[in-house]
Amino acid sequence: MLQNYRGIIELIGNTPILKVDGLDTGPCELYLKLENQNPGGSIKDRIGLAMIRAAEREKKLGGEQRHLVEATAGNTGLGLALVAAQRGYTLTLVIPDKMSQEKIFHLRALGAEVVMTRSDVEKGHPAYYQDLAQEIARREGAFYVDQFSNPANPFAHETGTGPEIAKQLGGRLHAMVCGVGSGGTLTGLSRYFAKAISSCEMVLADPEGSVLKGVVETGRIGRAGTWLVEGIGEDFVPPNCDLSRVKRAYAIPDRESFETARDLLRTCGVLAGSSTGTLLAAALRYCREQTSPRRVCTLVCDSGNKYLSKMFNDFWMQDQGLTERAPTGDLRDLVS
Ligand code: PMP
Repeated sequence: MLQNYRGIIELIGNTPILKVDGLDTGPCELYLKLENQNPGGSIKDRIGLAMIRAAEREKKLGGEQRHLVEATAGNTGLGLALVAAQRGYTLTLVIPDKMSQEKIFHLRALGAEVVMTRSDVEKGHPAYYQDLAQEIARREGAFYVDQFSNPANPFAHETGTGPEIAKQLGGRLHAMVCGVGSGGTLTGLSRYFAKAISSCEMVLADPEGSVLKGVVETGRIGRAGTWLVEGIGEDFVPPNCDLSRVKRAYAIPDRESFETARDLLRTCGVLAGSSTGTLLAAALRYCREQTSPRRVCTLVCDSGNKYLSKMFNDFWMQDQGLTERAPTGDLRDLVS
């Protein structure tokens, strides 16, 4: 049934689920929850709305306080900016400089103030995006949203994303594959499935270089490397990240993440972002390892529009050493 909406915020959540067809899923059925279809283009719209609502309820926002500050890979910023623009709040976002230009342009177009900082420093360094955001909030007397420890973040997934998935799959789900940025999605879904479908296994998709797979397997935090996938992977365990129910973890190299996202577009017509490539690659590995039919679900975390000049661009892939450079050939062949 067609439905009319009274504001963009009503369009957040209730996203569709798509069964993957055309990729090798072994004996399994694989489903994708299309979070790219949220109005801001990502799963983070849910928490943008939830964290602003919670802060308003707790009187940390609204009234005199109309300024929010957040550290974000971009998508939480887009979710917050969408809601902040509707409510007339001022929003300052601190973003590591590896994030795509398209996200920055989109945020500025929504009226957010964007502060770029270094991507190559770890937690504890004053230029680290989270430390810098906290410092700006303190200096300016603004509300620091803090998706990394704000309880409204996992709660939005425990009460929203999780129940939606269970309902859409008729309560039949054997494994849920998630990545971790703040940990909100994984923690919220873990908590919901522990109650609703207790046999559902939580599976972690981690970019190679992130410390989280090591934490799942050994309980120790190793040395972080670097990776190009945006929005997931960590050099610490955020307070909102509860890995205790994760049974299996995969470390996915950038090349495999990007190739998988490109395959998804060509095979299923879904234009997804780089973190989806990581999640889908891990989900496909998990599916192919199974010996009996299982139902597996993962997320399309954000839209691929923001990555058209990066992983969907062959020249960028070549510059990163992720695909072989095509022979230049004779330019006259191209113009004749
Ligand atoms: N994918 C993308 C593209 C993201 O931006 C994020 C969050 N930064 C995530 C996945 C991870 O979600 P969460 O913060 O809930 O762990």
